[in-house]
Amino acid sequence: MSRIIAIDAGHGMGTFGKRCLKSIDPAQTREWYLNDRIADLVEADLKKHYDCTVMRVDDTTGAKDISLSARVKAANNVKVDFYLSIHHNAGINGGAGGGTVVFYYNDAEMRAKAQRLYNAVIARTGLVGNRSSKVAVGDLYVIRYTTMPALLLENGFMDSTHDTPILLTAAHAQKTAQGIVDFLVKELGLSKNESVQDTPASDKPQENGPYITVNKGDTLSRIGKRIGVAWKDIADLNGLVSPYTLHVGQKLYIPSKASMQYYPAYTGKKTTLAAALTSIGVSSSYSFRVKIAKANGITGYLGTAAQNTRMYNLLVAGLLKRV
Ligand SMILES: [Zn+2]
Repeated sequence: MSRIIAIDAGHGMGTFGKRCLKSIDPAQTREWYLNDRIADLVEADLKKHYDCTVMRVDDTTGAKDISLSARVKAANNVKVDFYLSIHHNAGINGGAGGGTVVFYYNDAEMRAKAQRLYNAVIARTGLVGNRSSKVAVGDLYVIRYTTMPALLLENGFMDSTHDTPILLTAAHAQKTAQGIVDFLVKELGLSKNESVQDTPASDKPQENGPYITVNKGDTLSRIGKRIGVAWKDIADLNGLVSPYTLHVGQKLYIPSKASMQYYPAYTGKKTTLAAALTSIGVSSSYSFRVKIAKANGITGYLGTAAQNTRMYNLLVAGLLKRV
C-alpha cells in the first residue's frame, strides 16, 4: 500500500528570531528558508521516484507560520504513515561547535528510528559536530502529539562558525535531502515508481499539452464526464471563472497524466464526502466511492462514517487518488 509522509518545514519566513547569526551570515538567512529548501528537495525526489504521497503541513510559500497544532491535526486526520519536521538549530552563540541532532518523543522504538535517521543524514552530509546527544528526547509538540512515528531533525546550527557556512550551501541541502530520502525509503519500504518519467513540474497549460476541442452542446460537466476528469480541474487549468461559458471550437487544455494522480484539493464548504465529490463534478455514487476507496488503500469499503471521513480528509488535503 502506498505510504503517506507528512513533511513540515519548521516555522514561517517571518517567524521571530529564527535566522542565522548576523556576524556569520550578514544576510541573516531565515530558518524557514533553509528548512523549506530541504523539504522541497525531499518532496520532489520522493514524488518522482517512489510510490508514496507527500503531504506538506507547513505553508510552502513561507508567508504563514502554520500553528503546530494545525500541522499535527492535518497529519493525524489523514493518518499519515510518518511525520518529519525539518529544522535548523541555534543556541551556541557564535561558537565553533555544532552538528546534527534528531529529536524523538519518549520510546525505545522511536529512539532507534531517530538513530537511523541521524545515521542516514550524516552518511550524506558528514555534519557530525560535537553534540553529546546526537539523538535526544524532545518534548516538542509535533513529535509528541502526532499519532504516527514522528521525528524532528535539527540539521546543524545557524549560529555556529563551523556549521553555518555549510548549511547555507545548496550542496548541503541536497545531501541532507538525499539522506532523509534514504532513511524514508528504507524505513517505510517505499518501492520505486514503475516508470519514472521526467514530467514538467508545472501543471499550467503547455503549448503542446493535451487539449480537446469544444463541440456543440458541450458543458464543462459533460466534457468532464466524457474524459473522466473533474470539471473543476478543467476550469482551473484553463483559468475559467463562473459562469462557465464555452464556445464551439474552443481549445481546452486537459490535465496531463502526471497531474491527474489526485483529485483537486477540496476547498468548498461541503462537510460530507458525497457532497464534496458531487460539487467538484465527481460521481458520489456508492459504487464509485468503492472504487475511490480501493484506489486509496481503503479495503472493505462499506461507506462507514470513519471511511468517508478519511476519504474526505484526503480530498481536502489534495491527496485523494483518482480512480
Ligand atoms: Zn526551528
